[in-house]
Amino acid sequence: EKKEATASKSADGVNVLRRINLTVADGEFMVLVGPSGCGKSTLLRLIAGLEVMTGGNIWVGDRLVNDLPPKERDIAMVFQNYALYPHMSVYDNIAFGLRRRTIGGGEEFTPSPHLTAWAENLLVGMTRNLPKGLRYISKKERSVNERVKYVAQLLQIEGLLNRLPKQLSGGQRQRVALGRAIARNPQVFLMDEPLSNLDAKLRAETRAQIVKLQRQLGTTTIYVTHDQTEAMTMGDRITILNQGQIQQVAQPLELYNRPANLFVAEFIGSPP
Ligand code: ATP
Ligand code: MG
Repeated sequence: EKKEATASKSADGVNVLRRINLTVADGEFMVLVGPSGCGKSTLLRLIAGLEVMTGGNIWVGDRLVNDLPPKERDIAMVFQNYALYPHMSVYDNIAFGLRRRTIGGGEEFTPSPHLTAWAENLLVGMTRNLPKGLRYISKKERSVNERVKYVAQLLQIEGLLNRLPKQLSGGQRQRVALGRAIARNPQVFLMDEPLSNLDAKLRAETRAQIVKLQRQLGTTTIYVTHDQTEAMTMGDRITILNQGQIQQVAQPLELYNRPANLFVAEFIGSPP
């Protein structure tokens, strides 16, 4: 099973991406590297459905997802700026995407991030006369609870579930953002420079954690960075992009030993 993108993207008459043809194997950790402005974020945003393509096809397994809205693509994305809901606890941030509840005639809805857990319960008519601080937990919520605990354990943030994002360090926030993305067990996981806001030590730690997490879950991943060390140490394979075109797709060692062109050799720092 493969995830494939054949994509073109033009903006203001400029070809930002030119006939990208990229296939990522099921369960693979693909790193996407290239200099600033080469089109890495644009490619991820096209795959996630956050931008409209000017041509091409995107397949997730055997599903052609071109015309699907982002929510229906079964793809999760993590950005460098975390983008957590500031007024929601760590628990609720992670649980957010899991809380699709059934109301009335079986209609599904995703609660607004502005609803507190209490108001949410009231809305679906589940509130009971409980002592202050406790809330009714439905069967569905129990499975949400289990999933949140599982994800929190994977990311070693079990002790932080009741905190608000502002009470966390940058690295902890990023782990919560990762948790929220993987909680729904997406088919594809996209990360756009998720470590660039962290200091060197935390970067190294979180980098190792992301690799471990991906191995445990086996989620097909595309990871964007412009850091060569990250690329060489994290990826099963690396895609090198320059000026909207793929220069080479290969395993780290192969890139180093057999760069396809001068650009790749210089970018990777291969011996002449
Ligand atoms: P960085 O490493 O700095 O994040 P990147 O590889 O992610 O860079 P993109 O953000 O994908 O690069 O941008 C690729 C190119 O497309 C840039 O030259 C950018 O200015 C241009 N671009 C992206 N989106 C648009 C748009 N909507 N309109 C015009 N130009 C755009
Ligand atoms: Mg970018």
